[in-house]
Amino acid sequence: MTTQNQYAMQDPTKQYPQPKFDKQPQSAPGLAKDMDPKPDHGEDSYKGFGRLAGRKALITGADSGIGRAVAIAFAREGADIVMNYLPSEEEDAREVVALIEQAGRKVVAAPGDISDEMFCMALVDTASKALGGIDILVNVAGKQTAQKAIADLTTEQFDATFRTNVHAMFWLCKAALPLMPPGATIINTTSIQAYQPSEFLLDYASTKAAIVAFTHALAKQVAEKGIRVNAVAPGPVWTPLQTSGGQPQDKIPELGTKVPLGRPGQPAELAPIYVLLASQESSYVTGEIYGVTGGNHLP
Ligand code: NAD
Ligand code: MG
Repeated sequence: MTTQNQYAMQDPTKQYPQPKFDKQPQSAPGLAKDMDPKPDHGEDSYKGFGRLAGRKALITGADSGIGRAVAIAFAREGADIVMNYLPSEEEDAREVVALIEQAGRKVVAAPGDISDEMFCMALVDTASKALGGIDILVNVAGKQTAQKAIADLTTEQFDATFRTNVHAMFWLCKAALPLMPPGATIINTTSIQAYQPSEFLLDYASTKAAIVAFTHALAKQVAEKGIRVNAVAPGPVWTPLQTSGGQPQDKIPELGTKVPLGRPGQPAELAPIYVLLASQESSYVTGEIYGVTGGNHLP
């Protein structure tokens, strides 16, 4: 991928790689480093302006994709970070650790499986001890496995998708909230799939709809504490989630063709929205779902 300037005015349809792409199967969760073209997480482009100076952030799924872009942006905006990912993603995670250190911020790598409640509780404890508190919780980790027919969707998969996408968010929010001061923020990651579900993502789309309702309800519940809760709803984004079974492999070459901008988003295009929702600049925004969809807007 050529270096992008995220700040120069330009045609967004041509700003990043466009279909067609090569098929490139990986086994889940997949690695960003093995994708072609390599996703742009803002490594060479994101500029910080001190918008999160001194904040303490816990980010799940921070090794690759949207979570990596968020981690890079948060660090360059001045936040210290505890990053979670699966142990099999250590190679991707090492690159992110190095980038956060280059930004001059503290980073603690905390690999582990968030579909386990005990691990989620330990993760929040680790984060608050390592950082001296938690100001921002960003739930990015997610599981997406395409199945063409309901007959092929096993109870094990249905359960694992819900535990990773919904239960983990619940456990992490529940553990983090008592530690959060007024001004703290939670950002969840839903999807366009909550509103326009694909026929082959029954379980995944259902979890993303649950995240929307959870975000609306929790935002109302904790508003009086001065804590804000929002979610980002991406459209198709060029990440290993998609190439490692999130889409049927025959849909990878044309990923992004069905959105008005005609290409998939890159993780770097999501990060500024997470920064906005985490920062005090969005002080009157809570309970919202922010679409970043390439034009297939939310209802
Ligand atoms: P990604 O594969 O880079 O990130 C997903 C991450 O989830 C993985 O890196 C992994 O660390 C983490 N994860 C999965 N299962 C886990 C588990 N059991 N324990 C701990 N971590 C686990 O892909 P991405 O596209 O950046 O996905 C990030 C989020 O964005 C997900 O919630 C996904 O549903 C959402 N999203 C992605 C797209 C897209 O087109 N890529 C569109 C809409 C929403
Ligand atoms: Mg990953």
